[in-house]
Parts: sequence; C-alpha cells; structure tokens
Amino acid sequence: MNLWSRLMCSCRRRSPWIFHMNSGSCNGCDIELVASLTPRYDAEQLGVRLEGSPRHADILCITGPVTRNSVHAIETVYGQVCSPKAVVAIGSCPATTNVFIDSRVLDGPLNRHIPVDVFVPGCPPRPDAILQGIAKAAEILAERGSRPLVNEENQQ
Ligand code: SF4
Repeated sequence: MNLWSRLMCSCRRRSPWIFHMNSGSCNGCDIELVASLTPRYDAEQLGVRLEGSPRHADILCITGPVTRNSVHAIETVYGQVCSPKAVVAIGSCPATTNVFIDSRVLDGPLNRHIPVDVFVPGCPPRPDAILQGIAKAAEILAERGSRPLVNEENQQ
C-alpha cells in the first residue's frame, strides 16, 4: 500500500462520511440515528459526518424492514456509493424484518439484496450502539483500502 493509500485509509477510518436511508422504518431507528449526531452524543466530534448524497459517502446506514417498494431504491443507492464502501443495518428490522416478518409488503431482510457489514441490534438501538456500529464499519472500510484517484480512474 503506497503513502496515498495509507493516508486515505487513515482518514476514512478517522472520519467516515455516512448516508442514511430509510427502507420503511417506523422512524424509531431514524430518531436514534439523528440523536447520535446531536451534541449529546456528538458523532461529528468523532469525525462522523452525515452526507446528503450517497456519492459523497463512505458508509451506507439503512433503517427499516425493507419494503418491496424500497428494494429498487436500496440497490440504486448502494450502487451510487463509491467503492470501497460499507453498509450498516441499524435496528432489528433490516436484520430480521422484526415483528413485521409475515407482512406481504416486505421483502427483507436487507442482506437478501445488498451485502451488510455491520448489524446494530435493538428496537431501536441506542445512539451509542449506533456509533459503535459506524466505528466498526469504518475499521472494515480502512482494511478494504482506498478508492483510486479520479485521474487514475480516467486513465483506465
Ligand atoms: S427496529 Fe424497531 S424502532 Fe427500528 S424501525 Fe424497526 S420497529 Fe422501528
């Protein structure tokens, strides 16, 4: 691994940018994720930053039990996050579809559609558990190396 790659891996481990997607959540997990960004838990102080576009993010955080209508959007957004990337499933819903398991409007769990790196259990999980999950995903991301420079991509 060259110096640039080592630097990028270090930056991404220390300051992962996340994109949040709701795949049919009751909003319980979303509220806890937002709480983790507020001054009480202060994710930004730890370098975690919520991004408005998946193209700018390193980690995709998904809440909710995966409705049939959200599957295409999940796959599209997953494709828009540049590689290497990591996925965090927040709450019991994306992991197991939770109490909605028999619902005919669902097509979960999440790892049926995209690879999931970290599951954060709970209904909903506490903000500190969510931050631990994001930190674990950042470690996984750093092990996967850096993405190529734009110029390198253009030369290929
Ligand atoms: S895990 Fe619980 S809080 Fe989170 S979306 Fe599912 S039902 Fe709501």
